[in-house]
Amino acid sequence: MKWSVHSRIQHVSLRRLQNLVGFGSVGLSFSTKIIKFQLWAIAVGVLFVVIVSFNRVEATEMNNNTNSEVYHFKIGSFQVAVISDGLLKLPPLPTYAPTANPQEVERAMLERFWSPNELNLYFNTVYVDTGKHKILIDTGAGSELGTGLARLIPNLHSIGIEPQDIDAVIITHAHPDHIGGIVKNNGQLTFPNARYHISKAEWQFWTAKNIDLSSLKIPVQFKESIKAAAHKHLEAITDRVNLFQPKQEIVPGIYTIDAAGHTPGQSVLRIVSDNEQLIVAADVFFNPAFDLEHPDWQTGFDFDPLQAQITRRKLLDEIVRERTMVVAYHMPFPALGYVRSRKDRYEWQPVLWQFGDRPI
Ligand SMILES: [Zn+2]
Repeated sequence: MKWSVHSRIQHVSLRRLQNLVGFGSVGLSFSTKIIKFQLWAIAVGVLFVVIVSFNRVEATEMNNNTNSEVYHFKIGSFQVAVISDGLLKLPPLPTYAPTANPQEVERAMLERFWSPNELNLYFNTVYVDTGKHKILIDTGAGSELGTGLARLIPNLHSIGIEPQDIDAVIITHAHPDHIGGIVKNNGQLTFPNARYHISKAEWQFWTAKNIDLSSLKIPVQFKESIKAAAHKHLEAITDRVNLFQPKQEIVPGIYTIDAAGHTPGQSVLRIVSDNEQLIVAADVFFNPAFDLEHPDWQTGFDFDPLQAQITRRKLLDEIVRERTMVVAYHMPFPALGYVRSRKDRYEWQPVLWQFGDRPI
């Protein structure tokens, strides 16, 4: 449509300019021909400016569009998509590296060309269509962490998936950025037809009357809001929850791996179809510059920081050894890549962006 409008304007402009300078008339004197030639040259110049200006308007309009918030790929016969729930920009200290040397934190960020005052924390849920089940892994933050998030539902809608289509929700752990989308603001379940899967250890910890978060290095008010979110969202699914154990196949092709440390019952998932695999790493690591390059840095959200470090190295060593593709909840969108080892550190290798099945 844009092209036809564009062509018509060029055509009409050309006709008007031709009429203006009398292009194509015969029997002219030499001097008249020179004047006409000059006028024609000016007219062509004007036309060029008009066309360039018109294209500039188009380019400005395009810049107002957003980039993709959904990334499609396949694991064997499973259709998979990373679906963004949005992005938070936060100061890195003290929350995301409370035990690290602040100068090292600043250097790590500057080396990546990031502002040292602002850490981008992405929220990446995973949607899996196995052919039999439509599965969502984590539910995003909902309205638990303010505006700028809750992109999950509109992004699902953009690929033709509605909340009622989801028949299984797998929860890696019960922090508000992962479970905040379970209950809507009106108190109803966002995914009314889903069965919810969460590890037994995670469920028992967060549904206890007294939740002890004294080991977290974050402000007290934040601890209270994390507890309140856990009670609100987990209580809402009490009658439709499946409590799983490590190394269990919860739906065909999706296996659980114990990843305790960040929370008492955090789980990583291994998705297997045909001979292909994907590791869903939850919050075992957050950020390419922080806990991949510095795997001994803690985050203020770690329930058991030492256990979290052990779990991080164990999983990362396995991913490196197996050369398995991995998706990690808080990594830069689409948060999909591989991990390489570099002495005692790790390095993120994002996947090469694919535009889809069709060639471009
Ligand atoms: Zn998280």
